[in-house]
Amino acid sequence: MSASGVNACVVSVGNELLFGETVDTNSAWMGRALASRGITIVRRYTVADLAEEIRHAVREASGLADLVIVSGGLGPTSDDITRPSVAELVGAPLEVDEVLLQRLRERFEACGYGELPALNVSQAEVPRGARILHNPRGTAPGLAMRFSDTWLVLLPGVPRELRAIFGGELSEFLELEFGDRTLSVSHRTVHTTGVPESRLAELIEAAFARAPAISELAPDVSVAYLPDLRGVDLRLTTRGLQADAADAQLSHVLDRLEPVVEPWRFHATSGDIVESVSGALRSRRMRLATAESCTAGLIATRLTDLPRASEIFVGGVVAYENAVKQALLEVPEDMLVRHGAVSEAVAVQMATGVARSLAADVGVAVTGIAGPGGGTDEKPVGTVWLAVSGLGRPTSEHIRFVGDRQAVRERAAQAAFALLLRSLQPRP
Ligand code: ATP
Ligand code: MG
Repeated sequence: MSASGVNACVVSVGNELLFGETVDTNSAWMGRALASRGITIVRRYTVADLAEEIRHAVREASGLADLVIVSGGLGPTSDDITRPSVAELVGAPLEVDEVLLQRLRERFEACGYGELPALNVSQAEVPRGARILHNPRGTAPGLAMRFSDTWLVLLPGVPRELRAIFGGELSEFLELEFGDRTLSVSHRTVHTTGVPESRLAELIEAAFARAPAISELAPDVSVAYLPDLRGVDLRLTTRGLQADAADAQLSHVLDRLEPVVEPWRFHATSGDIVESVSGALRSRRMRLATAESCTAGLIATRLTDLPRASEIFVGGVVAYENAVKQALLEVPEDMLVRHGAVSEAVAVQMATGVARSLAADVGVAVTGIAGPGGGTDEKPVGTVWLAVSGLGRPTSEHIRFVGDRQAVRERAAQAAFALLLRSLQPRP
């Protein structure tokens, strides 16, 4: 860790976080927000609504970090004890802040709640000397105070309030207090789909090791592999470099990466391959129809999650039963009997049939066995056939996915988008 950097800890307060009733999205969000400012998070705590637990975590965190952000328990109810607990730890008595009190009263009246209940007056209490960080979305403001060499920041637990304060006065505060010490951070993200993380890592490591090695050309770039059901993102990061030095090192890594990831790469600002597929359809002025068996509408749903979907999507058929494949997708009965519903011939006919019957330019089809039952020796669970028609000769692909029912369906939908993209943008 660089001596000149800024270290932070995050403390999340709330029984509901420990019980798993509420997922701690605040920590993840703040992790990203701090990292993008060049502040290094060295530890995270989750503690119960108990004064002793809060003080213990905050005291320990203060020994580790320049900045400790505590979220939750700032409200007016009796289980909200972050403020008094921290006030006691730093040895600052709680005092009513008249400006805050006035603002609270006005807010209450403006909302039509009438006079401020005594319970809410506690929200205007701040540890003596604390700085107030305005909350544009609620009543509990953020608070910043010194505790020996550390800045302690308290934020309300409600995510939209926490984010609003963070993006507003806390950002200004962090810039003022830490701006000259934070390390500048640069990122590049490369999206891939259809290749296992381990295979990708093997290929990339081999490419990086070739002389001159990437460890010499770009010693300050770290590469993170971020896999999920849809694919693997590669995230390149530099910390503490000037912009042009960061660009130069990142370019070395990207140049070396590009030929390796080429077969599986897609470009999308959102990280979603649908963005890329939609863009390709739009630029070719083509519209798509879907025929889905085991994914039962997942592909159509993802297409229509994006606005202006009607420009590229006509509609789809969920062809779960063979009778639907026959009646709506022109799949002949003898083809189903001879090859089975999960077969290349049926997938191709589904894609062709749906494009025809819905008058679309392009058809995409998925037929497979999502499990857990229904597998055979010849066609085990996870067997999926995909097909695309309408872009020259129909293309098809057979994949055996691993994972449970949800994973097979999610992966199959993603693979269909990847096949579509390859068919729309044939590589030389
Ligand atoms: P309030 O003034 O509303 O009481 P507060 O600062 O006291 O705010 P909490 O009572 O701890 O905050 O939590 C309020 C709500 O915010 C909870 O119901 C919970 O849904 C949500 N919340 C709290 N902490 C987190 C967290 N770490 N991640 C996501 N949501 C959270
Ligand atoms: Mg509360």
